[in-house]
Amino acid sequence: MDFFDRFRAALRIKTDWPAGALPGDAEAEAPLFRFQDFLAEQYPRFHKTAERWILGPYSLIYRWPGTDGGSGGEGGEKPVLILAHYDVVPVETDKWTCDPFGGETKDGFIYGRGALDMKSILISIMEGAETLCAEGFRPKRDIWFAFGGDEERTGLLGALKTARWFAERGTRFSWILDEGSAIIENYIPGLDKPAALFGIEEKGFLSLDLTAVQKPGHASRPPSVQAAAVLAGALYRLSKKPFPFRLVPTVEQFFTQLSRLMSGPRAFFMRHARVLGPLFLRALSAQPDMAALLHTTVAMTQLAGSAADNVMPSEVRAVINLRLLQPRTVEDAVGFIKKAVNDKRVEVKIHGTGTGPVPANPEHTRQGGPGWKEMAAALEAVYPGVPPLVFIMVATTDSRHYQNLTGGIFRFNPHRLDPGELGRMHGHDERISPDNLRRGLEFYTSLFRLL
Ligand SMILES: [Zn+2]
Repeated sequence: MDFFDRFRAALRIKTDWPAGALPGDAEAEAPLFRFQDFLAEQYPRFHKTAERWILGPYSLIYRWPGTDGGSGGEGGEKPVLILAHYDVVPVETDKWTCDPFGGETKDGFIYGRGALDMKSILISIMEGAETLCAEGFRPKRDIWFAFGGDEERTGLLGALKTARWFAERGTRFSWILDEGSAIIENYIPGLDKPAALFGIEEKGFLSLDLTAVQKPGHASRPPSVQAAAVLAGALYRLSKKPFPFRLVPTVEQFFTQLSRLMSGPRAFFMRHARVLGPLFLRALSAQPDMAALLHTTVAMTQLAGSAADNVMPSEVRAVINLRLLQPRTVEDAVGFIKKAVNDKRVEVKIHGTGTGPVPANPEHTRQGGPGWKEMAAALEAVYPGVPPLVFIMVATTDSRHYQNLTGGIFRFNPHRLDPGELGRMHGHDERISPDNLRRGLEFYTSLFRLL
């Protein structure tokens, strides 16, 4: 088997989570254990060199020992932590043109759930480490890997547990690398060359239930005021009251860096975003990709009423999903929504677990902070001339559970992706080109050589 075969084999292990299964369900957890075993079988040299801890199906940890005894003691560099996850989001099989768990190759791409998010990365990390171990290479400092099995379901069983394990041992990291933004092409209007987005800050995540109740009954005798209309009114008012636009330092720095890659009036506007103020931000926010960088977003994701067409529901419910821009906290986001809904008949409650934003460490925003030199050098080795830009991650990653263990987190995928390919992530027909996969492997191999 070669690298590509191993990647395809990894895609065939069905590590999605069956609907309705609960943690502890042996059948649901078996593929996660199978994936852990698969790594041990396929990467024997690395497994001989590294120490491994398995904290259950959702958490797999390795320590690749450095030559300087690099556990962060006197004289040694603090370790680096590389994160990944081996679970994948579920699929709608009938919307795929091939088997989502078949690892098929067609039209010059390898297809499968996890092809981008993120078995591509995890297998590249392992492959790079295996190759270097085979060469007899040893990193100077300790490199830790922590792989999670429930990232797509909040990471509370995997990443959170692993982070606590590190905290108890007193292991801290100079910096952390997790999945994140990619090398983008044709993504930002006015930017006609590729750029690498290093996410150094992350937005928060919060879902809310909005519920309106009424007396259930026969649809032939509806009440004069119906719960659905009350809820619809609330949702309409929400849509008219977006969270205020705000230029956070990371985004301002991103715009400044972007302006250097652009020309003409666009470059001028980007460079002077702060001076141009709210009106400019509002104009920019007409593009959803830009709006996501400039305020707390509200996505209306679920609506539910009665189960039958002739039955009045006892309650109607909407779920909205917010991505919080700092300094917005979970609590004040709930307050903002309640005020915007402005109707006591609509109950607003937190759905699941909300998490606040993870701001960038000021030390880390300077492009000389921990890890920048190595990350930039590995990027240059694989993608010569592609500049790294600071970015804000608008989705959540496992890395948020590790924020107290380090001074800097990079969220980055070393793959070159246009919006069409990015749209397949969590969508249908997720795929990766062998060229992208190979470059990802080169990136991690180059990076490990520098650590
Ligand atoms: Zn992911």
